[in-house]
Amino acid sequence: MFDHIRIVLIETSHSGNIGSAARAMKTMGLSQLYLVSPKSVDKQSLALAAGADDIVTNAHIVSSFDEAIADCSLVIGASARLRHLQSTLLGPRECAEKISLYQGNIAIVFGRERVGLRNEELLKCHYHLTIPANPDYSSLNLAMAVQLVSYELRMAFLANKENENSLSLIEQNYPTAEQLAYFFEHTERVYQSLGFIQNQGVMQKLRRLYNRASVEENELNILHGMLSAVEKRLELLNIDS
Ligand code: SAH
Repeated sequence: MFDHIRIVLIETSHSGNIGSAARAMKTMGLSQLYLVSPKSVDKQSLALAAGADDIVTNAHIVSSFDEAIADCSLVIGASARLRHLQSTLLGPRECAEKISLYQGNIAIVFGRERVGLRNEELLKCHYHLTIPANPDYSSLNLAMAVQLVSYELRMAFLANKENENSLSLIEQNYPTAEQLAYFFEHTERVYQSLGFIQNQGVMQKLRRLYNRASVEENELNILHGMLSAVEKRLELLNIDS
C-alpha cells in the first residue's frame, strides 16, 4: 500500500542502523528502501532487521542523492536542525497527512549519523521534516527517526481509510526531481548568460522559491518556454552584433 513511498538513507555508516530502519519500516507497512552509498550492508544489518531482512536484501543501492529521488515528485528531508527553513517545515503528523493525500512517487530522506543532511541536499527537498524533540538534545537515532515517521504515515493512512469518500486525492501533476533539476540547469544557464547570476547564492534562493511554490508540470513547461524565448532572442542579438 505504500509502494510509492520510499525511505532514503544517505551514506549510513553503521550497517546495523540499516537493519533497524528496515524493521521499523516493515512494522508500519513500508517496503521501499533506498540506500545512497552505504558504508556496508552486512550480517549486522540482517541481524538487526530481524524478520525484515527482505527489505534489506531488496533495497535499492544507488550512488547519489539525485539518483535516489530522480523519479519522485515530492521529496521530504528529515533533519533535527532546520530552524533556518521555517517556511517549508513540517512535523511528522502534518507530513504524514500531506503524503497520504498525494499520489506521485515520494521520497523521505534521512541523513548521515554524524552530520545529517548537507545544505545542498536540503535545498533539493520540497519540505523539511523535523521531529519536535528536546531542543537541548534533539537528535534521534536514525532508525528511531524512521520508526516515528513511518508510524505517523500508517496512522494517517488508517485515518484516511476511515473517511475514504470524503477525501479527494491530489492530482499527480507535479514534476519529478529530475525534471526540476533540468529546469534549474536551464534557469542557471540563461541567467548566467544574461549576466544576472554571478554566484551560487541566487540559484539557492531560486531553488527554494520554486520548491516552495509547488510548481506543476504544465507551469514548469511555461517557465521553460519563457527561458527558451529569452535564449532565442539572445542568439539573434549575438548574430546581429
Ligand atoms: N548529528 C546529526 C544527526 C544525525 S541523526 C545532525 O546533527 O544532523 C541521523 C538522521 O536521523 C538525521 O539526518 C535525520 O534524518 C534523522 N533525525 C534524527 N533526529 C531527528 C529529528 N529530531 N527530526 C528529524 N529527523 C531526525
